[in-house]
Amino acid sequence: MSAEERTRRFPQPMCPVRAGDPCSLCIPGASGPQDCPIVQLVMDDPELRERAHELRRAARRRQG
Ligand code: SF4
Repeated sequence: MSAEERTRRFPQPMCPVRAGDPCSLCIPGASGPQDCPIVQLVMDDPELRERAHELRRAARRRQG
């Protein structure tokens, strides 16, 4: 299976806190956004969660 086929079959999850970027497993021990401690911290804080949401919306608009 080529890398392109793998990406198509198993799409990379997007990082909820790095708007527009796929999860790059930048936090040691995280296996994706589902168990990332940074994502958990941001989502637990109402202001940070709203700001992350705004940034994701802006990134989607940029990507068209
Ligand atoms: S490990 Fe966490 S902070 Fe890093 S890219 Fe993935 S979801 Fe985002």
